[in-house]
Amino acid sequence: MEKQVFTVGERIDKFCAVCAEERGHIVASVTKRGQISRVRCPKCSTVSTFKLASRTLPHPAMKSPSPYDRTLTYRAGQSMTHEMFGIGEVTRLMEPRKMEVLFQDRLRCLIHAQGGFAQKVPTH
Ligand SMILES: [Zn+2]
Repeated sequence: MEKQVFTVGERIDKFCAVCAEERGHIVASVTKRGQISRVRCPKCSTVSTFKLASRTLPHPAMKSPSPYDRTLTYRAGQSMTHEMFGIGEVTRLMEPRKMEVLFQDRLRCLIHAQGGFAQKVPTH
């Protein structure tokens, strides 16, 4: 068996007992050897211990969601296709124009709601 090393923020698919469905989870903590110890469900925010045996394979997408468009305003639960990262699902809105998206490999932060008049986006 090949040993796989994980890092926090990566995606792992498993069954969420709270949501009662198989879905992508986010690696919340790993051991010193790079094994997943805890994962977080992006939908219900439940943090649970992780056993490799409980891992499930990502569901093949029924159809490709619409391409990611930064001018659109997304809501949690919406899906998109990103030209670089593939299919992702919005897990959380962080700021009015920033969101967390869970892609096939890991969690990423994207901007959205950039439509309308050109506005200066404050840089931190
Ligand atoms: Zn859940």
